[in-house]
Amino acid sequence: MSISKVAVIGAGTMGNGIAHVFAQYGYPVVLIDISDDQLANALATIEKNLARQIKKGTIQESDKEKTLKNITTGNYIPGNVGEADLIVEAATENEALKLKIFKEVDASAKPGVILASNTSSISITKIASVTTRPERVIGMHFMNPVPMMKLVEVISGYHTDKSVVDEITELSKALDKVPCVVEDYPGFIANRILMPMINEAVYSLHEGVTGVEEIDTIMKLGMAHPMGPLQLADFIGLDVCCSILNVMYEGFRNPKYAPCPLLVNMVTAGNLGKKTGKGFYDYTGGGKELVVNSIFKK
Ligand code: NAD
Repeated sequence: MSISKVAVIGAGTMGNGIAHVFAQYGYPVVLIDISDDQLANALATIEKNLARQIKKGTIQESDKEKTLKNITTGNYIPGNVGEADLIVEAATENEALKLKIFKEVDASAKPGVILASNTSSISITKIASVTTRPERVIGMHFMNPVPMMKLVEVISGYHTDKSVVDEITELSKALDKVPCVVEDYPGFIANRILMPMINEAVYSLHEGVTGVEEIDTIMKLGMAHPMGPLQLADFIGLDVCCSILNVMYEGFRNPKYAPCPLLVNMVTAGNLGKKTGKGFYDYTGGGKELVVNSIFKK
């Protein structure tokens, strides 16, 4: 395998997890973010998560040291991506930002590099179109939390070379992940199936078919899902769910993907889920309380 050095752009929720996993499996990683605070938080999170792995007995203390030694940080894309064989972009989910980053990366990266994006919903073909090497651009969609979740959805853009798909597939296996290759269409597969389920759960609540607790309990106990769809939506962020549904709605020109008006209202009202303290549940007290079980307050 020709990949030995990795750069990760964006040190948020996903970027720190991606850097953690590459570093743990022996790859020197440079983690790049415009925010020094985000870089400091990312390193602290990685250290905390490694300590948790030691406690669980999945790694040794020496693995923690080696992993941390493999990670360096930087603020500036041009000065930090030149040596990387693989660049994984995990910056904020915003199309204009990602296109700007890929143009910048394309201008500084070496020949033969693979340019990957961890985007949840933006077209890989579109991202690739702003580079001079669309055949080397690919989606590498890790799941949250990255060190725990086995899946990597590998997204092959319109021009992505088969050899690049094969290389990323093999690399994912080397990280002890399970890769699944999908073509580049809106929502890919994970979100194309997950988001309509979440939307239908919100519609069921919106129409008063039953309450929050019943919807989540039915899907947990009836379908063996570890978490109900409304709680999961709170974890993902209701704004993120809404924006992915809109990408599919516009991408397929199909009304079945239109976000439920209740979901849109909650986003407009600023109840975005766990990150703002309130969504379908209230997290402000440290636990998970029902805000109101039914939107029809009987
Ligand atoms: P986040 O908001 O936690 O982190 C984004 C980071 O990008 C921030 O630290 C921000 O400072 C940084 N950033 C912004 N502009 C930058 C620039 N020009 N250069 C370098 N860094 C920059 O976001 P996240 O949840 O980690 O999501 C990152 C990507 O991963 C998105 O594309 C998202 O769709 C995808 N994703 C997220 C999840 C999830 O559950 N959070 C799951 C799968 C995929």
